[in-house]
Amino acid sequence: MISVCIDDGRIASFKWCRYLYKIGVRATIYINPESVSRFEFLNKYHIGKIRNDWKHLIANHLYRHSDCPANAISMSDIITSYNDTKKWLVDNAFTGGEEYLSIPFGRLGGRWSNAMISELLDHCKQVRNVSTYGLTDIDKTNHLYSVCDNVADILHGIRTFGKREDKVFTLTLHGNNFTSDDNFLCIANVLEEYKDYVKTVDVY
Ligand SMILES: [Zn+2]
Repeated sequence: MISVCIDDGRIASFKWCRYLYKIGVRATIYINPESVSRFEFLNKYHIGKIRNDWKHLIANHLYRHSDCPANAISMSDIITSYNDTKKWLVDNAFTGGEEYLSIPFGRLGGRWSNAMISELLDHCKQVRNVSTYGLTDIDKTNHLYSVCDNVADILHGIRTFGKREDKVFTLTLHGNNFTSDDNFLCIANVLEEYKDYVKTVDVY
C-alpha cells in the first residue's frame, strides 16, 4: 500500500493536488495554520478546494512549522500546538484529518525522541515520522514512517513495496523548493499505475 503526503501547505500543493485528483490519487495534506495565507502558501480558499472538490485529506502539522524540540519548544507547548491546530481545522470545516499529525522538523532536524512520540500518541490517532525507506508494517500505522522528497528513493519505493499488503510505503513532498514539477510528474505517472494501492492515512 502507498500513502501520499504533502507537507507545509506551500502553493505548489495546489496544482499538485489538482493533478492527483485528475488521475484518481488521494493525498494527505499537512497544514501549519500559522503559514496559511502567507506569501507562496495556501490560503483557506485553496485548502477548501483541495478538501471539498479534490477529495484530499487535510491534516495536522502543528501550529507553527518551528514547533519542534530542536527549537527548545517544550512538550506541553507542542501538545498545545497540536490541539490549537486541531481546533483551527475543525473551526474552518477542514475536518477528517485533524488528529493525524506529521511532526515538523524545522530547520534543525526536529530532535524528536521516541518518548516524545509516545507522549504525542496519547493525543493523536497517528504520528508520521521520517525514515530512509519510508516503510511501516500495516499493523503499526499509528507511527508511520515516510521518505521525503528524494525522487529516486520514492520511485524505487513505489515500485518495490507499493503492492505489498503487509507494508505501507509513505512518501512526502514539500513543494517546488525540493521537487520540480518535472519530477513531480514522474512520481505522479507511477502513482497512477499504482492508484488502486494508494490509501490516505484515515483508512488504515
Ligand atoms: Zn514540514
